Amino acid sequence: MSEKSVKIAINGAAGRMGRQLLAAVGERDGTAVSAAIDAPGQACIGLDTSVLSGGEATNVNTVDSLANVIEHFDTIIDFTAPAVTLALLETLRGTNKKVVIGTTGFTAVQLEALSAAAESLPIVFAANYSIGVTVTLALLRDAAKALGDDYDVEISEAHHHHKVDAPSGTALAMGHAVADALGRDLDQCAVYAREGITGARKSKTIGFATVRAGDIIGDHTVLYAGNGERLEITHKATDRMTFARGAVRAAHWVSSQPAGLYDMTHVLGLAKD
Ligand code: NAD
Repeated sequence: MSEKSVKIAINGAAGRMGRQLLAAVGERDGTAVSAAIDAPGQACIGLDTSVLSGGEATNVNTVDSLANVIEHFDTIIDFTAPAVTLALLETLRGTNKKVVIGTTGFTAVQLEALSAAAESLPIVFAANYSIGVTVTLALLRDAAKALGDDYDVEISEAHHHHKVDAPSGTALAMGHAVADALGRDLDQCAVYAREGITGARKSKTIGFATVRAGDIIGDHTVLYAGNGERLEITHKATDRMTFARGAVRAAHWVSSQPAGLYDMTHVLGLAKD
């Protein structure tokens, strides 16, 4: 590990994303894996992280307790589950650690706790760390502003059959981007399910549709349907490394930031605030 490397811990190291994150930290100059954590009972506990990443030995063994490795890292990347993420923030309270959160599926109350933690910790939190989705969110805002209320907006997404939350955090982020651009509150205008005699579509609503199947990594389409034409903006992820590389870029960026809540637009220098 070079002296200037940002020392990075991966929480949820054995997960689908954790394994990719270990590989992505290893391939980027200026970052090094210095700790890895997963849940007690996992087969990887006590073993070198290379058994998870498939890469070269790091001489870093995966542990089952964050508290045991707290001195070993500058920045932690967490792709786990909401309760695990909030426990991590509690453990890091009062430290000078930096945090990158990729976990999705938080309730409104959990999101408030996450925001409160960012008053004393630098936190990057994004529902999707791909560069393509970050650009897509900007395109969606521009399209919504130009098309206005005459176009019905529907958001559809598809993910693998292991995914536990719906709609995806990315679909919700897309909904918020469109709603904000149109001056609407997503909580008031979202329609998450339709069944039976639903009646005609209410104007100014934003509909969501969810597919869970096979090994789909993440597809999202936003449809703007007007009279006589339709516009669709689609993003398809074909490799989890796209999220992992974005999250590692965020970890490198946040290592020199003060406390606050950031997203990928800040990391990429696209933020307007
Ligand atoms: P996964 O179930 O494969 O991995 C989660 C890992 O967390 C598992 O290895 C599990 O054992 C571990 N874990 C559970 N309890 C733990 C604890 N107490 N301490 C440490 N580790 C613990 O899930 P996944 O597909 O890798 O996704 C994880 C999260 O990341 C989900 O919320 C998913 O929606 C989200 N995700 C976000 C992005 C993004 O770009 N933001 C991309 C993909 C997935």
